[in-house]
Formats: sequence, structure tokens, C-alpha cells
Amino acid sequence: MIAILVGPPGSGKGTQAKVLTARFGIPQISTGDMLRAAKQAGTLDPRYRAIMDAGGLVPDEAMIELIDKRIDADDCKNGFLLDGFPRTVPQAEALEGLLARRSLTIDAVLQLDVPRDLLEERLIHRRTDKRSGQIYHLVYNPPPPDAELEHRADDRPEAVGKRLDAYEAMTSALLPYYETKGLLRRLDGVGPPEEVTGRVLLALDRANPVAT
Ligand code: AMP
Repeated sequence: MIAILVGPPGSGKGTQAKVLTARFGIPQISTGDMLRAAKQAGTLDPRYRAIMDAGGLVPDEAMIELIDKRIDADDCKNGFLLDGFPRTVPQAEALEGLLARRSLTIDAVLQLDVPRDLLEERLIHRRTDKRSGQIYHLVYNPPPPDAELEHRADDRPEAVGKRLDAYEAMTSALLPYYETKGLLRRLDGVGPPEEVTGRVLLALDRANPVAT
């Protein structure tokens, strides 16, 4: 199964991706995670690092190259779940080309809808425990006292508004692109994570009844 999760920063994409990968036995390919890992390892081009910290978008060519290499890995042979890619129409077109060359197609594009004020509130209070990768919300899901908390540079208030604006600009072209192809499934992303998962699974059943 090849599916794409689309949603603004803070919409719960990462959380839903983890549930789906466990259920379908496919990897989650998160370009944001890949870039952060490269940043941590000191292998990320400093220009891309500055773009990320400011909440901008890394150039399409760099992202496409990253995905082109990643989907040839062994763990992708039963499919994969894309999280955070594609973000632009050129990335979506390139993805189609990459898949076509491997005789693969996309099963569904799942879009998580969450109102903007709720996204801002979630992002500004989001913290990650560096040791476990576990994500917390300072108010609604507080971390344990011994957590080693990290506040992502791009979750700081000055970058959050910019990321949400960039997301809105991006979806104005990307979502109609997938809607025209009949691949887009719009889902309500508000509510407990398990409820959102239920909606996601329902949408996938409809998209690909044989896969489940
Ligand atoms: P994310 O965790 O998906 O919000 O990604 C964090 C940051 O990585 C974004 O704000 C961008 O700077 C960069 N990034 C991740 N995926 C992409 C992509 N597909 N295209 C361009 N930039 C990306």
C-alpha cells in the first residue's frame, strides 16, 4: 500500500502515521524526520538547515532526490506511508514519475483537517523527549519530570505562523491536484487520536478494500 498523509504542522500526521505503519507493516517516510536526523548528524547542507529553522521549504530537487533513494530500501517492498511529502505540485509530479518507473501507484491521499487556532495552540506547547522521541503537550499531555525536553526551533511562535501560512499556500494547489485524480480523502483531524485513526482506516478500506 502506498498512501500519503497530508495535513498542516500539528495536525497529528506523525501520530497517525505511526499507527498505520504498525497496522500495515510498512515504513513511515517522514521527510521532516529525515531532515532533522541529517541536521542532528551534522550532514545537512547549512542552507537547508537555515530554511528549516525559519519554517521555510527546502528546495524540491533536494526533497525528490531524498525520496527517490529512500523508496528503494528493502523495507519499502510492501509499500510505504509518506508523511510531509509531497508538499508542492512539482514534488507530487516527480513522485508520480518515480513510482511509475517502478510500476507503482498511490492508493490514497489522506488529508487531516484541523482549524488553525487549534494548530497554533498544539505546536507552541509541543515538546519532544529527546531520549524516546515521545511527543508531549505541556498542558494536555504533560511530560514526566525526568524527560529531556526539546522544543523544535520551528515550533517556536515566530516560526509557527510562517509554517501555517506556507502550508495554506501549498495546499491551495496540492489538494486540488489529488482531488482531480480522485485520490483525496478529507478527514476530520479533531478529537482523540484513536478516533482520528478510526476515520483514517475507514477511508483506507474504501480506497483499497483488498489491502486490509
Ligand atoms: P515537518 O516535520 O514535516 O513539519 O518538516 C519540518 C521542516 O522540514 C519543514 O518546515 C521544512 O523546512 C522541511 N521539509 C520537510 N518536508 C519537506 C518537503 N516535502 N518539502 C520541503 N521542505 C520540507
